[in-house]
Amino acid sequence: MSNSRNWFKPVPAERRRRLAASQRRGILIERDGRELINFASNDYLGLSAHPDVCQAAIEEIKRNGLGSGASRLISGDDPLLHRLESELAAWKGFEACLVVGSGMLANIGLLQTLAGRHAHLFADRLNHASLVDGARLSGAKFSRFEHLDYAQLESLLQKSTAEQRIIVSDGIFSMDGDAADLSTLIKLCEQHDALLLIDDAHGAGTVGERGKGLTDLAGIAGHERLIEMGTLGKSFGCYGAFILSTAEMIEGLKQRMRTLIYSTALPAALPAAALAALQLIRQGDAIQQLQNNLTLFKQETSALSLMPSDTPIQPLLIGSDADALKVAAALADNGLFVPAIRPPTVPEGTSRLRITLSAAHAEAQIRQLADALRRLV
Ligand SMILES: *Cc1c(COP(=O)(O)O)cnc(C)c1O
Repeated sequence: MSNSRNWFKPVPAERRRRLAASQRRGILIERDGRELINFASNDYLGLSAHPDVCQAAIEEIKRNGLGSGASRLISGDDPLLHRLESELAAWKGFEACLVVGSGMLANIGLLQTLAGRHAHLFADRLNHASLVDGARLSGAKFSRFEHLDYAQLESLLQKSTAEQRIIVSDGIFSMDGDAADLSTLIKLCEQHDALLLIDDAHGAGTVGERGKGLTDLAGIAGHERLIEMGTLGKSFGCYGAFILSTAEMIEGLKQRMRTLIYSTALPAALPAAALAALQLIRQGDAIQQLQNNLTLFKQETSALSLMPSDTPIQPLLIGSDADALKVAAALADNGLFVPAIRPPTVPEGTSRLRITLSAAHAEAQIRQLADALRRLV
């Protein structure tokens, strides 16, 4: 007999996920009655609590209310979405931009739209789940290459007889903090007549000149084979996502992308806030502070074998699920919130602490974390 109480197989204790009500107060977070320093947020620049960002959203809500009421293609297409799109395109160095509801919706919709039965997708094994799901939904042929193994990617490309090819990769990898080699990937695209889809959710605002991201750093922004996706929920401290490419590509997506067409538009308070965040990112102080914090953290933890990463994602490999949970619990006893990331989010046997740094951390808080890690790991 099946009902809603016994539908799912029980999840073993060390794999169980828990939604714990978490009250954020700036860089602090209250969970289970304890106030901890938050090293588990992608709000890398601390902009989610910046007065300019919050005020922009509040003003917009006071002027025009909250919900957008409909899809962008019906009546939800606020002028602020268009302003944000032109500013993002100019800042990132692309012809055109399309703002959508979230990164998950962007990636699922993109791959569903770009790739049909005649396409062949080539994906890094550690790509974000949204790219995996989009690939499944597309119905395209799907090959995965080992993480950053571009020799293997090249041999897969050579064997492909599909009409269309798309290489799909995270820019900065969300659970590892390392980066794809975008100049190599774009060269492979040119040699094998392929498109390149880069999800740089973690790179915008954190790497490149004044946070322009990985495609700027690699000098490939605006390339005609490139589609870049980024989110407003991380460095921007808001919510939502954006897609960048040529004007023709963006127009094609507007005509066909189901997660754009059949989903309610973002409330205009979000592009209002994101425009304020973009101004702060371009101005550069927050990124400088983030870089200073990263340098300090690396100095203080040089004795530990952190995974190689020059980004604010600084994972510490632990191995077993149980050990990772044990260290995370001990850190919480020391007033520090660092989550244990376990399979299936990461491969078996690579459970880790995923430490994320923010411009909002004070020096003393970073030293406190480094001291605790040296004692506990
Ligand atoms: C966070 C993230 C997403 C999803 O973005 P949301 O706006 O949170 O839905 C997609 N890709 C990567 C690499 C991410 O880190």
